[in-house]
Amino acid sequence: MFDTAIIGTGPAGLSAAITLKLHEKSVIWFGSPQMSLKVEKSEKIANYPGVGLISGAELNKRFQDHAAEMGLEPVDKMVTAIMFMNDHYSILADNELYEAKTVLLATGVVSAKGVPGETEYLGRGVSYCATCDGFLYKGKKIAVICGPQRYEHEVAYLAELAEKVYCFATYKDVGPLPENVEMIGPVREITGGMKVASIKLNDGSDLAVDGVFCLRNAVAPSTLLPGLELNGPHIVVDREQKTNLAGCFAAGDCTGRPYQLTKSVGEGNVAAHTIIDYLSESQTK
Ligand SMILES: Cc1cc2nc3c(=O)[nH]c(=O)nc-3n(C[C@H](O)[C@H](O)[C@H](O)COP(=O)(O)OP(=O)(O)OC[C@H]3O[C@@H](n4cnc5c(N)ncnc54)[C@H](O)[C@@H]3O)c2cc1C
Repeated sequence: MFDTAIIGTGPAGLSAAITLKLHEKSVIWFGSPQMSLKVEKSEKIANYPGVGLISGAELNKRFQDHAAEMGLEPVDKMVTAIMFMNDHYSILADNELYEAKTVLLATGVVSAKGVPGETEYLGRGVSYCATCDGFLYKGKKIAVICGPQRYEHEVAYLAELAEKVYCFATYKDVGPLPENVEMIGPVREITGGMKVASIKLNDGSDLAVDGVFCLRNAVAPSTLLPGLELNGPHIVVDREQKTNLAGCFAAGDCTGRPYQLTKSVGEGNVAAHTIIDYLSESQTK
């Protein structure tokens, strides 16, 4: 069992991972090794003390280098569910279960609102993981809501299995995809009975499907960890980055505005220190 599972490889997650590593805690760190798309996309950053004017791509590269120097290697998996087990947490990432005494949510703010019906049909036709659940749709019709572009190869993988894939991409410049992939407009709703049966598009049309894959960079906190106290899209934390669940902490954009690098890095650091105290207190109990 790990001391801590960190979800998210943005500045908040990295900051916490560095401090926990320096304190010799065992950490499993989930997220893309490319770190933060948000940082990567920033044209110029002028408010990060000590580095002067810097492009987001350069700063993100420095984050990657710093992680590598510290021997911190992210596990490139999407966490789709976290279960509170009273004295520890079970974390589901790409269909594999991990266990940790504490969890730090550093997932960034989830900009893409889920589609109505998504949470309701999760596990009953809605999936967040192509490699885990794709085989269930061999020869069937499915819909995919894809964005960012880095998940396009998963659309291609699903197209190898399914008879037909309806794909809504949330980005421009969609690359070449197999012939059985038909691009569609925004999905308004996922509908069905006991299981997913169709999707309704914004233009009012319905398409019959057996499943829907939502391939995104993040899962809404309410879906990720039921029972977590939220204020709108944000996770409620105190000044020590504690959430309402014992052993669960949150840092960065996911805890609220301002959405800023230094706030994220600072909160990641505070969370790491609170986690260190929490771990030593639970040891003495
Ligand atoms: C265009 C742009 C310009 C900006 N310019 C500035 C600026 O000049 N100055 C400034 O201070 N701030 C700026 N910001 C804001 C800054 O980028 C954010 O505040 C900061 O990146 C937040 O860090 P974070 O670690 O909280 O989240 P993020 O950077 O969003 O990182 C979260 C990471 O967690 C991963 N993740 C989420 N859910 C999961 C999951 N379930 N499983 C695995 N991984 C997951 C995501 O993929 C992502 O990599 C800018 C943002 C944008 C978009």
